[in-house]
Amino acid sequence: MPGTAPTDELFLAHFAELSRFGATERGGVDRQAGTPADGEQRRWLAQLLAAEGFDVQYDRVGNQFALLELVPGAPYVLTGSHLDSQPTAGRFDGAYGVLASAHACLRLAAEFAAAGTRPRFNLAVVNWFNEEGSRFKPSMLGSSVFTGKLDAGTALAVRDGQGVTVREALESIGCLGDGEGPSAAFCAEIHIEQGRSLERDGITIGLVDSNWAVNKYEFVVHGEQAHTGSTVIADRHDALLGASMLVVAAREAADRYPGQVITSVGQLSVYPNSPVVVPSRVELVLDLRSAQMPLLAEADAWLHERIAAIEAAASVTIEQRMSHGWPVTPYQPEGVELAAKVAADLGLPARPVSTLAGHDSTNLKDVVPTVMLFVPSVEGISHNERELTSDADMLAGVAVLTEVVRRLALGALAE
Ligand SMILES: [Zn+2]
Repeated sequence: MPGTAPTDELFLAHFAELSRFGATERGGVDRQAGTPADGEQRRWLAQLLAAEGFDVQYDRVGNQFALLELVPGAPYVLTGSHLDSQPTAGRFDGAYGVLASAHACLRLAAEFAAAGTRPRFNLAVVNWFNEEGSRFKPSMLGSSVFTGKLDAGTALAVRDGQGVTVREALESIGCLGDGEGPSAAFCAEIHIEQGRSLERDGITIGLVDSNWAVNKYEFVVHGEQAHTGSTVIADRHDALLGASMLVVAAREAADRYPGQVITSVGQLSVYPNSPVVVPSRVELVLDLRSAQMPLLAEADAWLHERIAAIEAAASVTIEQRMSHGWPVTPYQPEGVELAAKVAADLGLPARPVSTLAGHDSTNLKDVVPTVMLFVPSVEGISHNERELTSDADMLAGVAVLTEVVRRLALGALAE
């Protein structure tokens, strides 16, 4: 049976403990999905919650659930985020939200037990598998399967750069379960903002009301391998030159819409990657984002028109292999309102924000009413070992999330 409610001090102590898994020398973490460090942190979370009476389970794609059934047969309020990280990442991205959810549910379990409260819905903490997409593409893989957007078999067959499948990685850390996870009535997630708007304006809690639209592409630039010394320029089919022109074109597409369209190329794989060989093939992942669908479509069309010119200029061919994306979609307004009321009741400055980055809740909100909260990121730094959120902001976020989950569990948004 759940004991006494955990304190703020215990939250901070647990956060410090969690930050030791996959810790890097410069204060960050490296615990990509399905690695030994991911396995260690998952076992740590399982022990923390199992000790307080939660039933820890894995679904068929490694999503980790800790269930507390207070009302037999009732669906769950599912709160969580992701523990996996980018290769050299900060301690807060995802992990903060999972631990905040664990503490919110521990507090509520203790409170309900002490007061003899019978909520309308059960409580579940979730750690979604492979949110980051650095080891296995696409990102948000676990929540995509949970919400029926991605087939489980397809997800399990995805391979990392070394050829290891999702299934093999999950089996190696003992986290491949079966089934489809609990039935969710409502979802909640809290995350660091990963931008500077909240810090700049002195706001403690961001009430996420929509997400930016994203188009992601995997391009393969095909050239021809040649000697870097003896092959005259006129004879070259330099795949890296073509890829570089594509990188520049992506920035130009963004520069046409200052502040309204964001584009990036974050990964290049160059073959054969030898200093004396003109590259024959480059794979790159390119993304475009905007809060306005028409602008995204314009920027995307402009970029695609440039491809023929790049092929001619660099004497290469460019193949678009995979595309994946999501539109601008709102979070349920009643959830945003509920979170705004909670922040006001707790005396914390809050305002609606749109998320530029994708989150597991971006998937969840499409199938179940979902509340998404942000806390400030110092200088907006993220996917970086210097990522930071203050203790005070982390604790304010835990307080708001706890109250949001409490009201959801008691039926505040139920018919
Ligand atoms: Zn994240």
